Amino acid sequence: MKKHVFSGVRPTGRLHLGNYLGAVKNYVALQDEYECVYAVVDLHALTTLEETGKLKDNVCEVLLDLLAAGLDPTRSIIFAQSHVPEVTELFTLLGMVTPLSWLLRVPTFKEKVKMHPHNVNYGLVGYPVLMASDILIYKAEVVPVGEDQLPHLELTREIVRRFNEHFGPTFAEPQAKLTNYPMVVGLDGRDKMSKSLNNHIELAATAEETAKKVMSAVTDPARKLRGDSGHPEVCNVYKLQGHFNNQRSAFIADECREAKIGCVECKRSLAEAINTELAPLRARRTELAAHPENIERILQHGAEQAKIIARSTLTEVKQRMGLV
Ligand code: SF4
Repeated sequence: MKKHVFSGVRPTGRLHLGNYLGAVKNYVALQDEYECVYAVVDLHALTTLEETGKLKDNVCEVLLDLLAAGLDPTRSIIFAQSHVPEVTELFTLLGMVTPLSWLLRVPTFKEKVKMHPHNVNYGLVGYPVLMASDILIYKAEVVPVGEDQLPHLELTREIVRRFNEHFGPTFAEPQAKLTNYPMVVGLDGRDKMSKSLNNHIELAATAEETAKKVMSAVTDPARKLRGDSGHPEVCNVYKLQGHFNNQRSAFIADECREAKIGCVECKRSLAEAINTELAPLRARRTELAAHPENIERILQHGAEQAKIIARSTLTEVKQRMGLV
């Protein structure tokens, strides 16, 4: 029997290259090897109460990108987290075995407190327990994650150990599957690519928008003039070349070091390579977006499939805990 994979995508609107390289390409590949369960985690988005007015539209935008990238609803279970409310029941139950001290030490909680000092809500503290519930309710044994999510997954494993110790063996400890691109740096060359920092390129951007964004990217800071030799190993444009222009990247590195290629030319070739790779995805997205009724149908069907697994897990958990 194939192992279960779970991963959640926050509905922050259209996905970008960082999401694509860091997660989505991996999600697509995992479909060949595992039973995959992918949720657009809309409840998680409520913990910081950002742009909730756009939440439903953002779920659809994310789903369009995922489907266009190759997630297949006939092979994977794809749904919106809030459409399977059983997960919130498990969240309550797992909350009973999770010491508050474990949650207060999570690095992302501390960061969020700094970012949103006026909205340190109960949901924010419990975020990792909801994340654990997402994984465990679908009995996922493998979780594709970026490096920044590893502390959350470790916490899930601790919750599993504690639950199993108290109530008997119920859950397997989920294992991390690190992506090939655990951290995709944004166009500023400094921080992780992110929509909120506006250092990103949307998957659904036009070819012109993509080229414009690439041309604005920070390169090797030591290379001031066209005649200066460059250091591709510190240049984020070069890192992206490594993915989108893989066959030419060694050649580009040599040309850069010998100052035979200028940054403008290098960026042009990167923009062209990104646009070539994403052209089929963008065409599929346009087709999918023309039929929003299909998106609704996919979400509904995914939620029905997810509920079958979720209800079975919840019944087992309640029995273990002496509730039924
Ligand atoms: Fe970066 Fe390319 Fe410029 Fe070299 S030529 S510094 S790899 S953008």
